[in-house]
Amino acid sequence: MSSNDLLSPVQYVKGIGPRRARLLDRLGIKTVRDALFYLPYRYEDRSSIKKIAHLRPEEINTVTGKVLKADVIIPNPRRPKLKIFELTVSDGSGLLRAKWFNQTYLKKIFKPGQEVVLYGSVKYNYWGTGFEIINPEYEILDENDNEPNPSAHGIHTGRIVPIYRSTEGLSQKQLRNIMYSVINSSVSAISDPMPSDIIKEHNLADLQESISNVHFPSPTSSLDDLNRGTSPFHQRLAFDELFTLQLGLAAIKKGEVLEKGIVFSPDGRLINGLLNKLPFKLTDAQERVFKDILKDMQSSVPMNRLLQGDVGSGKTIVALMSMLAAVECGYQAALMAPTEILAEQHYINIHSLVKDLGLNIHLLTGSSKNRLRSGLSQSSNSSSSGMDADIVIGTHALIQEGVSFKKLGLIVIDEQHRFGVMQRAILRKKGTNPDTLIMTATPIPRTLALTFYGDLDYSVIDELPPNRSPIITKLFFEKNKNQIYSLLEEETKKGRQAYVVYPVIEESEKTDLKSAITGAEGLQKIFPHLKVNLIHGRMKPIEREEVMREFKNGNIHILVSTTVIEVGVDVPNATLMVIIHAERFGLAQLHQLRGRVGRGSNQSYCILLSYGGSEDARKRLDVMVKTTDGFRIAEEDLNIRGPGEFFGTRQSGMPDLKVANLLRDAKILEIARKEAFSLIERDSALTGYPHLRKSIEDFWGRRLEMFKTG
Ligand code: ADP
Ligand code: MG
Repeated sequence: MSSNDLLSPVQYVKGIGPRRARLLDRLGIKTVRDALFYLPYRYEDRSSIKKIAHLRPEEINTVTGKVLKADVIIPNPRRPKLKIFELTVSDGSGLLRAKWFNQTYLKKIFKPGQEVVLYGSVKYNYWGTGFEIINPEYEILDENDNEPNPSAHGIHTGRIVPIYRSTEGLSQKQLRNIMYSVINSSVSAISDPMPSDIIKEHNLADLQESISNVHFPSPTSSLDDLNRGTSPFHQRLAFDELFTLQLGLAAIKKGEVLEKGIVFSPDGRLINGLLNKLPFKLTDAQERVFKDILKDMQSSVPMNRLLQGDVGSGKTIVALMSMLAAVECGYQAALMAPTEILAEQHYINIHSLVKDLGLNIHLLTGSSKNRLRSGLSQSSNSSSSGMDADIVIGTHALIQEGVSFKKLGLIVIDEQHRFGVMQRAILRKKGTNPDTLIMTATPIPRTLALTFYGDLDYSVIDELPPNRSPIITKLFFEKNKNQIYSLLEEETKKGRQAYVVYPVIEESEKTDLKSAITGAEGLQKIFPHLKVNLIHGRMKPIEREEVMREFKNGNIHILVSTTVIEVGVDVPNATLMVIIHAERFGLAQLHQLRGRVGRGSNQSYCILLSYGGSEDARKRLDVMVKTTDGFRIAEEDLNIRGPGEFFGTRQSGMPDLKVANLLRDAKILEIARKEAFSLIERDSALTGYPHLRKSIEDFWGRRLEMFKTG
């Protein structure tokens, strides 16, 4: 077989055929190559063979012996349909009965005199006089084969056996046979695209050997390593996958480096105007990060920078300074936020910060398009008006057709995790290679950042503004409810404000969740002297805006809400966050919600009210109580949910990982990334490595068009 044949349909491998090929297709296996890389998800050790005399009940064992009898029996004459195929096997130390229910075809397979291997759970028989094994996996050893040790040639027994995810109509045994046959016939066609110096440097296992071994491990393999995916063979395959991924990212990045961007040379006029007005000094981290950004903006390479900073770390000011830098140079800047509430809030904030600087600022959200609020927006003329503004703030309405900019120089995307790679690209097309700054408050563990943002540069604001004391977080249950009321009383007495967050707007018959509407009514009754107000996603944006402004001005004491306030809302006088049904929320969400308090110098509190829930839910709440550090929370979240869920891989536009696991293989990822980037640095189009180039194209598919032209 040649390496081209690896892409031929798996159907043509001996013993597969069209019917099985259809079943394999359901597993995502179309080609021979797909099959080779379809890895077991776990392994069973069936290699040590027990003497029948030494069997213990309830143990899972492998037994080998000679067939003495093979018969179909009907144990109960009144139930003639129940047929059992019964095999009696002897290994010289004792007798073992194997039974299969309603599988009379086995009569054609087993014959007295055969040597067989059986694998399964052993029980005492009905009479307690001997052992039996029900529905064991089996293998008939070839009579012509005089091999004394069955592990040398067993596929299903007598060895460490692979277990695959299968599909209806395809048994483990059939699938395993298929894999065995594919590997025997095709593994030698694989040519290793990895540069040999990298193999040597990192002591990588041989590729063909790795593929054979992850499917049918050699007898010396460690079962633990195999099951954990940390065998040298798994690690080799993980390395290849991560290396290919990172090569793609390196190529994208290199492509951008080759593109020509805007060279900004801001004079600081507006930025200084802003800084002079601020009631605080920038933190060192803010200064440092802004310097990174400025350097990018001044260079001719388009900026693609990710700005991470925990909730409350002060990203908005840094974004605003960057936008002012663009405006100083006669360009427009756009800020895109994930929700209307957040866009509106940014608009109000930014408007009030820069109103003396004589800038033209627009708000553009789905509902503001036809209704730019008078008083808030100046000189709004049409719905398609990015045109004459200096700064445009909006939701994804910004990227809709019909919105155009005169001279878009900088795009800031807030809370990036809600935008996909594609949306980012569309917005960028609205300018000519504008600089892009992506802000996220979801602290991304390093391994994830290297993967999902591997094409970006990144800066971290790793310091909170001074005088913030950590939020005190408590886990309450229904019986502690009265304590919540006293906390609300205490905080509001001190002149502070509180949020009470509910999982749903209204009660419904489907769930028995407490709702925001009922909650607000209840709280108003308990606190008649206070102003309790409601905000949720079904209200009109103009109403929400009104409520938010009233809350910000201190006219509302308790704001009852749904997760519409999850991101970005900034009211430093709010010191108490109560989350009802906290067990219903994800960790990132809880962290975001909690981030709504602790934004001023006053001690703040977060109460998580739990009504039970799963074990994972309990784990999440414990993490919240234990730490306020967003990075630790993100790590734990990743641990609990796994990377796909954590990140919403589907919307990220990233290829799926089949072998590598970002948690387990963090170290491998770092090495693979380093090697990939240095290789692209040396040979950006990989002209010296056609095989590698091919494997990147296979892995990334159409996502990497640019690479082909580069
Ligand atoms: P986030 O990073 O969550 O978007 P914000 O930018 O909303 O945080 O800032 C949170 C709060 O901290 C705001 O009230 C902001 O005015 C304030 N803030 C930002 N930078 C500083 C600073 N250097 N010193 C004091 N307060 C600051
Ligand atoms: Mg923010």
